[in-house]
Amino acid sequence: MLLSQTLPKSASYHALEALARERIVILDGAMGTQIQKLGLGEEDFTGQGGGCACRFHTDRPQKGNNDLLVLTQPGVIEDIHVDFAMAGADIVETNTFSGTTIAQADYGLEEAVFEINAAGARVARAAMDRAQAMDGRARFVAGAVGPTNRTASLSPDVNDPGYRAVTFDDLRRAYGTQIRGLIAGGADIILIETIFDTLNAKAAIFAAAEAFAEHGERLPVMISGTITDASGRTLSGQTPTAFWHSVAHARPFTVGLNCALGAAAMRPHLAEIAGVAPCAVSAYPNAGLPNAFGQYDETPDQTAAQVELFARDGLVNVVGGCCGTTPEHIRAIAEAVKSHPPRIFE
Ligand SMILES: [Zn+2]
Repeated sequence: MLLSQTLPKSASYHALEALARERIVILDGAMGTQIQKLGLGEEDFTGQGGGCACRFHTDRPQKGNNDLLVLTQPGVIEDIHVDFAMAGADIVETNTFSGTTIAQADYGLEEAVFEINAAGARVARAAMDRAQAMDGRARFVAGAVGPTNRTASLSPDVNDPGYRAVTFDDLRRAYGTQIRGLIAGGADIILIETIFDTLNAKAAIFAAAEAFAEHGERLPVMISGTITDASGRTLSGQTPTAFWHSVAHARPFTVGLNCALGAAAMRPHLAEIAGVAPCAVSAYPNAGLPNAFGQYDETPDQTAAQVELFARDGLVNVVGGCCGTTPEHIRAIAEAVKSHPPRIFE
């Protein structure tokens, strides 16, 4: 048990648990898909073309650095969050998937990481306040913590299997900066997602515990792994059951799966997790498997019909969408699961 387990739960934690016992909670869809549709160029990313210019100096190109948009185009990101909230999302994820010093090193923006995360949480909070003003529903901001582009338990060099591009402590420090930024910006939840290397996730869990201890209360932690192929294992080789036992010490609010597979292919792995984990369970699949062009073809109704089967069979407490899912997918998913009771959890 981590030290932070003795800390009191935050007010949002109690509110979220109460909601999850009442009904299936809806998570948002893919931020990246919505950003891509806007066709933003280099000047939009850096803010030189009329946004808020990035005050952190770097000579590297920023096109494609989606996380930077919370600083340079905050209104654009806020509007996307509002669209997902009004489509039915109770929880929206901050646009901070690559907001670690490790991932931002590719863009020369390690210095901006705390600010990206704090701004990412503030922008999402502002969007949720706007949505609540429209329909009266309280909503939650999940601080999104991605896997980074390095793995602590696998070697990137086939000739040197003992080599590691990153250590546990590197990851712990990087995640620590990210999570402190998310908390400072007002995140209600820490969502450790798209986990393909469990050791990376364990470093994020450790960093979250340290940040909660400083903060004086415990935020709900959501942990979401990724099964990368038909063998039913994560990239670091774990079955869903092994994955659960590796993260159970964190006493997460939810454990579950996202990305890589569409809902139909995810189902047996999700059922396995739901069978072993006593906590709440989450699932946010892609809109099917990517086609030859890397695009996702499932319509909102197709994805929603599969996700409804998760709900009908009592497998889930939180559902949403990953790559390729739009506000229309989230609207269809929310509609499809609303008549089904949530899974019973501890
Ligand atoms: Zn995805």
